[in-house]
Amino acid sequence: MKSFNYHSAKDAKEATKLSSTNSVFLAGGMTTIPSMKLGLASYKDVIDIKGIKKLSGIKVSGKTIKIGSITKHSDVANSKEVKKNIPSLADLAESIGDPQVRNRGTIGGSIANNDPAADYPSACIALNAIIHTDRRKVNAENFFKGMFETCLKTGEIIEAVEFEIPKKSSYQKHPNPASRYAVVGVYVAQYKGQVNVAVTGAKSCVYNDEDLSKSLSKNFSSSSVDSINVKSTGMNSDIHASAEYRASLIKTYTKKAVEAC
Ligand SMILES: Cc1cc2nc3c(=O)[nH]c(=O)nc-3n(C[C@H](O)[C@H](O)[C@H](O)COP(=O)(O)OP(=O)(O)OC[C@H]3O[C@@H](n4cnc5c(N)ncnc54)[C@H](O)[C@@H]3O)c2cc1C
Repeated sequence: MKSFNYHSAKDAKEATKLSSTNSVFLAGGMTTIPSMKLGLASYKDVIDIKGIKKLSGIKVSGKTIKIGSITKHSDVANSKEVKKNIPSLADLAESIGDPQVRNRGTIGGSIANNDPAADYPSACIALNAIIHTDRRKVNAENFFKGMFETCLKTGEIIEAVEFEIPKKSSYQKHPNPASRYAVVGVYVAQYKGQVNVAVTGAKSCVYNDEDLSKSLSKNFSSSSVDSINVKSTGMNSDIHASAEYRASLIKTYTKKAVEAC
């Protein structure tokens, strides 16, 4: 690992001021530290944001739950408010990695990183999330731009993620047996007159499957999933699963999610 300057920011303003195109924010460090140790990434400045109190916590207000960006996966998994209002979100957090990763990794780090196989991006799409940054509010559908790519600008900090509480929802994934990342993960959320089916792990970036969403909006049943032909075009094909297998997993896991709802 190359040498770097370590900074502990007291607030978001200071963190932004210290940032440059050659810096990184340190939240849980679960992606940043291994990448630096393996020599896959190096930075001049590492800006620790874990001490910024304003970025943590879980708040329910009206029809939404707002989760501070440095909230750890284990805190989401164990939160009474999350379990009561969006139990599928607590289940998702509990399904991430292992206890060590869940006790350090954060929701903000996960979505800023936008790994194509990460779990939280699917929750953001399915649960109509709004990403609050230090300078704007962005709908989830405009936030995730491509593989490991988001709309965040240099120095922009995610402060919180606000999820709309659905009528019913379920997240089901086919986990990689080693890392628990999603080979395919499907998040189904039902709102009045609208169903969202967000898919992670299958393509280079999380997406809303419009055919499945439309079909389930009309008829919320697993037979409605049967009528859809999920095409493998553009899907990832690697040592874990072929594109065709991923397409088949999407149908299987969408049905599981609908049944679990
Ligand atoms: C062994 C292992 C298994 C894992 N398994 C899974 C899994 O099953 N499912 C899954 O979804 N994930 C998995 N992860 C990923 C993990 O859950 C973390 O969420 C992820 O690594 C990044 O979160 P972090 O808080 O550690 O971010 P960091 O590593 O600290 O930061 C990652 C990136 O996000 C940026 N960033 C962090 N916080 C903010 C912020 N508030 N605003 C703007 N930018 C920010 C940083 O600048 C950096 O570029 C796994 C990781 C490991 C090491």
